[in-house]
Amino acid sequence: MTLATAREIREAVRTKERSAVEVCRAALARIDTADRAIQAFRTVTAERALARAADIDSHHDRWRDAPLVGVPVAVKDNLCTRGVRTTAASKILETFVPPYDATAVTRLEQAGAIVVGKTNLDEFAMGSSTENSAFGPTRNPWALDRTPGGSSGGSAAAVAARMAPLALGSDTGGSVRQPAALSGVVGLKPTYGRVSRYGLIAFASSLDQIGPLSLTVHDAALALGVLAGQDPADATSAPDPPDDWTGALTGDARGARIGVPWRMLDSGVDPEVVRAFRAALEVLAGRGARIIDIDLPQAGQAIPVYYLVATAEASSNLARYDGVRYGFRAREDSLAVMYRRTRAAGFGAEVKRRIILGTYVLSAGYYDAYYVKAQKVRTLILRDYETAFERADVVAMPTSPTPAFALGERLADPLQMYLADVFTVSANLAGLPAISVPCGFTAGQLPIGLQLTGRRFDESTMLRIADAYERETGWWKKEPPAI
Ligand code: GLN
Repeated sequence: MTLATAREIREAVRTKERSAVEVCRAALARIDTADRAIQAFRTVTAERALARAADIDSHHDRWRDAPLVGVPVAVKDNLCTRGVRTTAASKILETFVPPYDATAVTRLEQAGAIVVGKTNLDEFAMGSSTENSAFGPTRNPWALDRTPGGSSGGSAAAVAARMAPLALGSDTGGSVRQPAALSGVVGLKPTYGRVSRYGLIAFASSLDQIGPLSLTVHDAALALGVLAGQDPADATSAPDPPDDWTGALTGDARGARIGVPWRMLDSGVDPEVVRAFRAALEVLAGRGARIIDIDLPQAGQAIPVYYLVATAEASSNLARYDGVRYGFRAREDSLAVMYRRTRAAGFGAEVKRRIILGTYVLSAGYYDAYYVKAQKVRTLILRDYETAFERADVVAMPTSPTPAFALGERLADPLQMYLADVFTVSANLAGLPAISVPCGFTAGQLPIGLQLTGRRFDESTMLRIADAYERETGWWKKEPPAI
């Protein structure tokens, strides 16, 4: 039996049409069969999940009105789960069992959701294909010889293959939206500060944001309502009150002004992606939205700026993995050699590349030339958006310049891999909310994603337009070929 949406499951459990245990068993059975080929999960928490489901069923009165009651969720394996191994897909954390839960996980559980497992990712969320996982890649449910995107590729594949209706990912430069697009699901990156990062294994702290992956925009809005809110454990979490995000989904896009930075589509974008993107704009126009031309003049700098800022912050965040505090430790008598060997054996090639690059751009001689310069251009990118938002309510772009690429295709060429982020990184640099919604398929049946970026803390408008588009097209209803 395939799973319904989170909203449908919640309703079924609330009205006792299905028990939480029944739903949980169905999800675990689906994981059992489908995940052999896909490898979305690193850890499946079957026993815990069933015990929790049974507990919810036996206290139905207490849980009945919880917003995600009985909904199975998959959690990216860089989010801490108390008592459950959390690896960030790195050898250096292979044996790490956190003593606490990430706030996002706590909030999901308080809302009645049931964690069914931890999903694969690029090591420390560094990558766009999930191939940088120390434990092997995840496969795209639409084409098993292709990547599901990354770094939240396990979460995207889990939702796409109907193993869980909802998953958590983290998005530093596109890692929720890009795998959502390549796997044919919805991926939401909230405004920076909207969701607490407490318990998220840090990659680049000024860019990282946790977000949901789901089948529908409604489910993303539902999850955001559960996840959002200030947290004393994360000083960057914002006091801004949550909106009624599901209530904002009226289906009405009339008068919405959709800005399109056409110049960004001039080169390097797959023609089938361009075609699907144009068709999506026509659908929105048909529902009464106005398409307007905008320009993001600094957008061409977003990738280099991102890779300077992200690597600088990563080199600092990853200094804590020294063999003393967590997980893996190389055997050695002298402390200095132990540090060196632990990091040499514990980190993969991409992580090392970024630590070296980040250390370099922060070093005394180059700090001003690279890091400070990048921060200045980052401000210019933010101003571009502020200017665009004087005339537009959201900015529309494709999420990814290409559909899912073949496993192995870009592994030897990191720069080619970095270009996958051309449309996504600027939302992180500017701290803005952005969403990817399925907007069709290539002739070869690979999913394509439409990205909408909103004003800071205005997820409502963005979600409303995305939902209006989804209602008209319903791409999400198509399931990947039987696995
Ligand atoms: N692909 C980007 C990178 O490799 C983004 C990763 C992310 O958002 N975590 O850094």
